Amino acid sequence: RANRKMHPENTIVDIGGVKVGDNKLVVMAGPCSVEGEDQIVDIAKHIKETGAAIIRGGAWKPRSSPYSFQGLKAEGLELLNIAKAETGLPIITEITNPMHVEKFIGKVDCFQVGARNMQNFELLIELGRARIPVLLKRGFSNTLEEFLMSAEYILSGGNENVILCERGIRTNETFTRNTLDISAVPALKKLSHLPVIVDPSHASGMAWMVESLSMAAVAAGADGLMIEVHNDPKNALSDGAQSLTYEMFESTMKKLKLLAAVM
Ligand code: PEP
Ligand code: MN
Repeated sequence: RANRKMHPENTIVDIGGVKVGDNKLVVMAGPCSVEGEDQIVDIAKHIKETGAAIIRGGAWKPRSSPYSFQGLKAEGLELLNIAKAETGLPIITEITNPMHVEKFIGKVDCFQVGARNMQNFELLIELGRARIPVLLKRGFSNTLEEFLMSAEYILSGGNENVILCERGIRTNETFTRNTLDISAVPALKKLSHLPVIVDPSHASGMAWMVESLSMAAVAAGADGLMIEVHNDPKNALSDGAQSLTYEMFESTMKKLKLLAAVM
């Protein structure tokens, strides 16, 4: 079903009225974690003014250490909805547990499946039953074949609204947090009909590199980007080092608009 041979035309996924895969670059932006009402509302207003179409923010955070901030959970979902009410931006947030699907329905416009859960098959099966779009991130040690098989779990359950997201993989290189597999973009576009987006923030782990990787992703044919932006990156509760300041996000968006216009 994810295979382009069975389905030659591109799939367009509608996230609360924003079309992904329709030849217009879609930028999803926001903090790694929702940290409070003022924070998420301020960021949502800023990214909207700057041209982003969707607000991202983690409520349930799958952290490598159990001692790191784990997210505001249900309260985080409520705060995202306040930001949506203030700005009109649709919401994407990560779901980590198949038992949470019911409580997310009506509160999110798109589910995010994180890299660590790409092969959480019970979660994928539950999301296949839902009728809300799913942004599926590539696991950091998974092949494209495995990535597409995970998409297949959602599609075969009857949910056709899947977006693929390349977010960097583990390689021998340690300078960057992960290695952005830029070739995944044309490869996935060739193999499948699903929209393909890139997350340059988790790929690089460094704010200063996000602009270059964003430009590379768009040049390679990505349908969209997911970028971490924070009102105060130095004091962020997660992923501050890779989060763009408002100023950096504005400058990156300016360049992206110029590039997208010639694509
Ligand atoms: C995130 O988007 O904040 C995140 C945890 O991403 P990933 O699953 O790609 O690590
Ligand atoms: Mn993050």
